[in-house]
Parts: sequence; structure tokens; C-alpha cells
Amino acid sequence: MKKSDEKVLCEAIQAVEGEIRWHEPLSLHTTLKIGGPADVLVIPKDLEALARLVRQARKAPGRPVPLFVMGGSNLLVRDGGMRGIVVKLSRLQRITDLDETRIEAEGGVPLSRLARHALERGLSGLEFALGIPGTVGGAVVMNAGTREGEMSGVLIGARILEPNGEVRTLGREDMEFGYRWSRLPPGVIVGARLKLHQAGRADIRRRMAGFIDQRKATQPLTLPNAGSIFKNPDGTFAAKLVETVGMKGHRIGDAQVSERHANFIVNLGRATAKDVLKLIRLIGKRVEKETGITLELEIRIVGRDR
Ligand SMILES: Cc1cc2nc3c(=O)[nH]c(=O)nc-3n(C[C@H](O)[C@H](O)[C@H](O)COP(=O)(O)OP(=O)(O)OC[C@H]3O[C@@H](n4cnc5c(N)ncnc54)[C@H](O)[C@@H]3O)c2cc1C
Repeated sequence: MKKSDEKVLCEAIQAVEGEIRWHEPLSLHTTLKIGGPADVLVIPKDLEALARLVRQARKAPGRPVPLFVMGGSNLLVRDGGMRGIVVKLSRLQRITDLDETRIEAEGGVPLSRLARHALERGLSGLEFALGIPGTVGGAVVMNAGTREGEMSGVLIGARILEPNGEVRTLGREDMEFGYRWSRLPPGVIVGARLKLHQAGRADIRRRMAGFIDQRKATQPLTLPNAGSIFKNPDGTFAAKLVETVGMKGHRIGDAQVSERHANFIVNLGRATAKDVLKLIRLIGKRVEKETGITLELEIRIVGRDR
């Protein structure tokens, strides 16, 4: 990094309370265990510290410092890492019960923890979410879900930290959702408000256990991965298409199309983002050539090549 860039970054993070890690390998923060270093990774102590960071990054001399928020479970970070500031919301962990059926969770709460909280309170609607890694903020942005439900089905509002450092409350009318897709104003999702419904704990627990068993039986959960690589095209499954073209188990370096679930790529140990990208391109080409279907990525690819 150039000395001048380092100076600008130092100013952007100045007096921000929290953890600051320079040149932090993002492979330590992605479920795929892949990713080059961030110029600087910041874990703000609280919302106030995050707001200061956002304001300072925007006002940096010259031009705004890039700021990327991550949970890490739906990401492929390239081997050259990420310029600017990478933020994790690991310290924004509060869950508040608003009334009998409404809950508010801060953006850094792990989605599975929120699902367990709902279970403890006898609230149904988040059963699908147990077993989806990542944060509440990431789940809102991705409209995370399964065939049994998705975030947009339970979300009644969100709090967003806008680039000017102000927090705004978003209603449903301010947000648009589709399949693993959302349109939100620019900013950091720092909270989500959900409406669930009362149900028996035993029923909720039974449904959750069923979904978890299904995951264990079908997904390669013992190896690093980033969940589904491709979205399911209309009327079919990405995994089925990958299998049809004979790519299940195909390996490039230490990146392998999972033997267990063909829409997952696993890291067998020392896979690089380059390996994974080659594999993704190869799958895309073969599926398109043999079936005429263009696969769309579900995972997000960020950062730059080495
Ligand atoms: C084993 C496994 C199983 C999975 N199963 C499922 C599943 O069943 N269903 C499903 O939908 N997904 C699944 N996923 C994918 C992933 O867990 C979800 O997409 C999750 O919601 C991503 O959350 P994250 O916090 O990790 O966000 P990331 O993956 O880090 O980020 C995703 C995007 O959201 C942005 N973002 C993250 N946090 C914020 C924030 N607070 N404010 C603004 N932008 C933000 C990022 O910048 C990025 O663009 C699975 C992943 C794994 C590893």
C-alpha cells in the first residue's frame, strides 16, 4: 500500500473505537476460508463508532475511502484482497423483544442465534433460518431463505446507517425483495425488525430439527464452503444441471464441486479464489453449452486478483 493511501486510511479510522486489524487476511473471516488481505479490517465497538467510521471514510481527503461490510458466508473474496476498509458488525449483537410477536435484532446478530431466540420465545416464522450462517444484516441484503421461508416474509422494517452517518428507519415500502435479491438504499443495515407469530415450542423445535437434518444429509457441512454458488433457474435446480453436465466432484487445485451437493464448491485445504473462479466459469460454460441455460451467481465475488 502506498504511504499516501495509508495516511488517508489512518485518518478515516482515527478515534474509531473497536478492533482495528491492518492487512488482515479475509480468509480468516469467510466460511470458504479464502480471501486476500483487507487494507484494514474494523470491528466497531458500537453503532456510534460505526457511524463515525462511515462519516470519516466519506469525508476522506481526495475521494471517499471504499467501505465494505461483510458477514462472510456468501462471499468469494479474490486473492489480492480488498482495498479500503472492511467492516464486521460482530459487536452489534443486541436482540430486543418489542412485544408478544415483534423482535428487533442488530445487524451483527448471527441469523441462527436470532432463530434460536425466536424458538425460546415460542415464536414461529424463523425456522428456515436456523442453519443459515451469516448476520442479520447480510440476511436482509441477500433476502436469505429456503423453500420454507425467507427474510422478506418476516421483515417489517430495518435500520440503515446512511453514508452521511445518520441512521434511518426503513419501512417495507422502502425495500424491494426477490429471490436472494433486494433493492435497498445505500448504507449499512444495522438492525432489522421482524414480525413472527406465536406457536408451540415443540412444533417449532420439530420443524427446525427437520430442516437441520435435511441440511446435514445434503450439504457438505464439514468442509469450508459459501453455500449455494448459483441461483436455481426457474423450474429447475442448479445442482441438478451441474450434475447433468458431469461436473459433480470436478476439481481445480483444491477447489472441488462437492460430491455431496453439486451447487456447493468446497475448499479441500489450500484452494485459492482463482481456483474457485476457474471452476465457476467452467461450470457456467458447460451448463450453457449442454442445456442452453445461463446460470446466475448467488454468491458475491469481491476484491481484486493478486
Ligand atoms: C453452509 C452454508 C449454508 C447456507 N445456506 C443458505 C440458505 O439456506 N439460504 C440462503 O439464503 N443462504 C444460505 N447461505 C449463504 C449465506 O449464509 C447467506 O446469504 C447469508 O445471508 C449471508 O450473510 P452474511 O452476513 O454472511 O453476508 P455476506 O455474505 O458477507 O454478504 C453478502 C452481501 O451483503 C452485504 N452485507 C452484509 N452485511 C451487510 C450489512 N450489515 N449492511 C449492508 N450490506 C451488508 C455484503 O456487502 C455483500 O454484498 C449458506 C451459506 C453456507 C456457508
